[in-house]
Amino acid sequence: MEYRTALLKGDGIGPEIIDSAVAVLEKVGEKFGHRFIFTPYLIGGAAIDETGEPLPEETVKGCLACDSVLLGAVGGPKWDDLPGNKRPEKALLGIRYALGLYTNLRPAKLFPALKGASPLREDIVSAGFDIMIVRELTGGIYFGERGYRQGKFGEEAYDTEAYSVTEIERIGKAAFEIARKRSKRVTSIDKANVLETSRLWRKTMHRLSEQYPDVEYRDLLVDNAAMQLVRDPKQFDVIVTSNMFGDILSDEASQITGSIGMLASASLGDGTRGMYEPIHGSAPDIAGQDKANPIATILSAAMMLRYSFGLSAEAAAIENAVDHVLSTGSRTADILGSSAVSPIGCREMTARIVAALE
Ligand code: NAD
Repeated sequence: MEYRTALLKGDGIGPEIIDSAVAVLEKVGEKFGHRFIFTPYLIGGAAIDETGEPLPEETVKGCLACDSVLLGAVGGPKWDDLPGNKRPEKALLGIRYALGLYTNLRPAKLFPALKGASPLREDIVSAGFDIMIVRELTGGIYFGERGYRQGKFGEEAYDTEAYSVTEIERIGKAAFEIARKRSKRVTSIDKANVLETSRLWRKTMHRLSEQYPDVEYRDLLVDNAAMQLVRDPKQFDVIVTSNMFGDILSDEASQITGSIGMLASASLGDGTRGMYEPIHGSAPDIAGQDKANPIATILSAAMMLRYSFGLSAEAAAIENAVDHVLSTGSRTADILGSSAVSPIGCREMTARIVAALE
């Protein structure tokens, strides 16, 4: 089979980590007899430098013509002083919106070999945890009406949160369906004691949960959820929540796994086309130094095989190769923890994962 992937390398460590994922995918293609076709497009600061726009029209068209999109990361100090709508990060909202990607999947899994890298106490993480955060991606306060106006205390800024039943239902369905393929537990997180949007969210989720009697369902307020994630993370399986709460909680969940350089993500819409990217940023402090951990991007490529191309065995082969390389003690600098081994670079880590696929 042939699978077309748009490569959005972006800025900072983006090009290095995307090259790693491509090397791994090429090995998978060779081993399993698939042809992966890669087409690079500009995004972020690199696109601003070349075209003046963070998300050129050609990039959107190119992504729409592919079966999936693999993204590195965007942004960096060079573009930090640009106005909001010209910044590299604006491209992320734009491309998700253009591709109709309203579901964001962010797994937060503690790799057994990396328990020592978690900032949580040994007794809390000893049983491990494997959480899937399902975040609504194209609605809520990040997309609502905003602006400046005169208020009680003079000039004020405002942002508005709005959610429709349709938006809540479609993200809710995605969460229940995913839970059915895991340990069948969904926690919906809101702030229904204060926010009207959360009350609609909760009411809609309750109605939806009746269609999934095989899935255990509960609600949690977001402040409590933030506490529970560090108190007892293994109580969670699938978490479903709004755009802003998901943004914050998924960063918290990523931190308790020990390294931001390990965590993948997928953004999906109605069809099979998705966008896959590591959750970390462009790490300008280590860009071009062969220090980046490529695993988050390699695991994002594995998610792409599973969710967009339906290649579960191939995805599992990548995940097993990563597990194997970690279990033999290979570490990039960010996941050294208390380990006494010498760290390896991005290229060497990639080569070891490719070799483990043999
Ligand atoms: P960051 O994730 O880029 O870096 C935070 C820290 O983690 C840094 O010390 C970095 O060196 C380290 N780190 C991140 N990824 C790593 C990896 N793969 N291997 C080893 N170490 C890694 O976050 P930041 O510093 O807050 O942001 C830098 C830039 O990235 C900013 O311009 C920000 O807007 C942008 N950003 C982009 C995305 C995205 O493209 N999706 C996401 C977050 C931040």
